[in-house]
Amino acid sequence: MSPRILLLGGTTEALRLARGLNPDAIYSLAGLGRVPDDLPCQVRVGGFGGAHALAAFIREQGIDLLLDLTHPYAAQISANAAHAAAMSGVPCWALRRPGWQASEGDDWREVGDWAELVVALQEFRRPLFTLGREPLEHLQQIPLHQHWTVRCLQAQPATERAEIIGARGPFALNEERALFARLNTDVLISKNSGSQSTEPKLQVARELGLPVLLLRRPLLPTVDREFVSLDALTEALQTTT
Ligand code: NAP
Repeated sequence: MSPRILLLGGTTEALRLARGLNPDAIYSLAGLGRVPDDLPCQVRVGGFGGAHALAAFIREQGIDLLLDLTHPYAAQISANAAHAAAMSGVPCWALRRPGWQASEGDDWREVGDWAELVVALQEFRRPLFTLGREPLEHLQQIPLHQHWTVRCLQAQPATERAEIIGARGPFALNEERALFARLNTDVLISKNSGSQSTEPKLQVARELGLPVLLLRRPLLPTVDREFVSLDALTEALQTTT
């Protein structure tokens, strides 16, 4: 009999995997993005209430295998997953997507947090933020010499000092080129998600010789099995199920 799977999602790879799961598997989403209604498996939405509650859910639902396919910057749920799996005695497998690697000539600068980012940004005038909603909390602190563009999931009205674009990947290279040109971007800010669907912006920065400020990846827990690609994880699942 195949193991009952709990899949923690929120990434393109998780959705792809969910499309091939059995009806008794559960696909879990935090609820920040779209919830698909065309999956062959069960879907649940919303947090569990911490690692202990996740462990309780695993036991109540008779889960045999926990799959962590959350985003590389979603450190809390990954920590909870590792802890809950250990507490409930089920294996935890994770997709640990490798980060992007700089090519020769790239000017990539890593920053540890928002405070470091602000310092690194001082020399620029037209930053393009592509790391989620965090910049929206700082719209009142934009230095006088800067105009920001923030691209995140939900648009909101522009201010005098900032444009907020709502968009969801994948992003095509030509569209990214047009965006950088329209905005006159002089620096790109990003997480190092390693996702192919958001990689074209790095190519455009490369073509234009622009610096890229990358937010350092959080530390993630070691789990029973870690995979660097969805194909490798899917293959391992097929030999187990
Ligand atoms: P996080 O800080 O690691 O998690 C915050 C809380 O959200 C968790 O403690 C958990 O609540 C709940 N949660 C997160 N993922 C969940 C899931 N798949 N199913 C059920 N509950 C979940 O996560 P985050 O950075 O806010 O990201 C939230 C979701 O968006 C994740 O699923 C992630 O894969 C996705 N995402 C994140 C990013 C990013 O840059 N961080 C980018 C793209 C997609 P409880 O403790 O109550 O269980």
